[in-house]
Amino acid sequence: MSNHPLIDKFNEPVLSNLGLKKDEKLIILGPCAVESMEQLEQIAKFLHENGIKFMRAGAFKPRTSVYDFQGLGTVGLQYLKQIKEKYNLKIVSEIMDPLQLPLMDMVDVLQVGARNMQNFSLLKALGKISKPVILKRGFGNTIEEFLCAAEYILQGGNKNLILCERGIKTFEPLTRNTLDLASVALIKKNYNIPIICDPSHATGHSDLVIPLSLASIACGADGIMVEIHNNPAFSLSDSEQALNLDEAFLLIEKLKRTSD
Ligand code: PEP
Ligand code: MN
Repeated sequence: MSNHPLIDKFNEPVLSNLGLKKDEKLIILGPCAVESMEQLEQIAKFLHENGIKFMRAGAFKPRTSVYDFQGLGTVGLQYLKQIKEKYNLKIVSEIMDPLQLPLMDMVDVLQVGARNMQNFSLLKALGKISKPVILKRGFGNTIEEFLCAAEYILQGGNKNLILCERGIKTFEPLTRNTLDLASVALIKKNYNIPIICDPSHATGHSDLVIPLSLASIACGADGIMVEIHNNPAFSLSDSEQALNLDEAFLLIEKLKRTSD
């Protein structure tokens, strides 16, 4: 028997449940982390003016070093709530622990980060709700393990699931990770579950983000999630991979051309 029978027969209209039109791509842009109200304001205004409906921004940040910026937590969520209402955006934000669920009511799409892909108690808790979840692939996990992790959420009853390929660790040191586009093509070929790509964490370098965003769409991804910042050099996390707003504008323009 398959270890992921629900993935095998998955056929939920997750993207149209999120308000997307047929063939419309899920484009999620925003900072790595919520840093301040001013930062969110500038980015949200930019997204609103450019017709982007989904903003990402982490309030709880899973950082490799405990000495690095850990996110603004509940204060960050309050900023996100205000911004969401002002600019009519849908918010994507990371949940690290089931205990954070009651705090994250105003978040439209919960993100499970790569480091938590096999946090089975978190996955089970997310299976019991109906809110959409983006499950990121662990950087040390196979496609099969990725699908098995997704099954945990589906098995609990939550069918609003989107997968996200965010790159895996390889021997290559010049990029932060290696974007495994073959996983996207393979999953698109064999299953109906939506999958998006995160070329920001996959590459770690802002100048590689646009080409790999386009490559993701070309190989069949249902969307992309990209980190952008009003002032990348001063970003408190992942500053090297963030697009500035001019680059983000260019990305949006290039994405429009892919749908012609
Ligand atoms: C993020 O999206 O900010 C993040 C931490 O990504 P990942 O879990 O893929 O490393
Ligand atoms: Mn990040």
